[in-house]
Amino acid sequence: MSTTNPQAVSFEFFPTKTDAGHEKLMAVADVLAQESPEFFSVTYGAGGSTRDRTRNTVLQLDQEVKVPTAPHLSCVGDSKEDLRSLLNEYREAGIKRIVALRGDLPSGMGQASGELRYANELVEFIRQETGDHFIIEVAAYPEAHPQARHFEADLEHFVRKARSGADSAITQYFFNADCYFYFVERVRKAGVEIPIIPGIMPITNYSKLARFSDACGAEIPRWIRKQLEAYGDDSASIAAFGTDVITDMCQQLIKGGAPALHFYTLNQAEPSLAVWRNLRTS
Ligand code: FAD
Repeated sequence: MSTTNPQAVSFEFFPTKTDAGHEKLMAVADVLAQESPEFFSVTYGAGGSTRDRTRNTVLQLDQEVKVPTAPHLSCVGDSKEDLRSLLNEYREAGIKRIVALRGDLPSGMGQASGELRYANELVEFIRQETGDHFIIEVAAYPEAHPQARHFEADLEHFVRKARSGADSAITQYFFNADCYFYFVERVRKAGVEIPIIPGIMPITNYSKLARFSDACGAEIPRWIRKQLEAYGDDSASIAAFGTDVITDMCQQLIKGGAPALHFYTLNQAEPSLAVWRNLRTS
């Protein structure tokens, strides 16, 4: 029987630059830990720009907040030696899950200088170095990666990445459940069975969301855009509308078989929790 009650949830954070930001992040993590997430994850600045901050945040969430925490790790701009030493540190600290990415170098950091070009090569490298120690998550793009020549080429690259040793995938966020269902259907037709977990972006601020979405290739449907534009600075209305829209999409996803949900929290508890609570009670 189909259900709208989600089975599992995970929450993503970014490492902060200031002590105050870090304290706030730990408080948010304490709140979200009450929801018994399957895991937390912490992003990584491509080229190693957040190497220490990501590692310290991961270890603190894992060991003090006591939620299994997955570091993101990207290969663009990092040498094999950099990657090897981080993998060893994580393994020795008992970290069991990793999100393996190519990454995008921030503008101003020059050309990619890493020895591994694409995420599938990083997945292979992690398997060579650490065997089956880590559960490896990779990124998926139901609306196609912004640099992909076309959907079919991106799908082919995703299938290769999954086959190179990934256990599971987390999608880029989207606002249209159909693109997720179509993507999953095509991946299954290609013979790949790993779980594909929708990445969920709560809606809290229109201008930031529009900027982000342009950069990562996520389409904001016109009806959502028009409504958010009309709310202007009325953040309470944006939050209420955003919670309804995202709750509705998550219900469709779960009913259609999504195995779990991964929230991009942007280091805030309430926007993700508002959706998650709606789902738990629906
Ligand atoms: P890949 O899977 O390597 O794909 C990148 C592009 O190359 C795609 O267009 C693909 O079609 C193409 N491609 C893949 N393989 C080949 C090949 N062999 N030959 C030719 N073309 C190929 N970024 C960060 O910097 N830090 C983070 O912490 C971070 N976390 C993320 C978490 C999630 C869940 C997601 C969805 C994205 C995250 N990103 C992060 C963004 C991500 O790094 C970028 O989208 C990046 O541009 C692609 O990374 P990827 O791992 O998907 O790359």
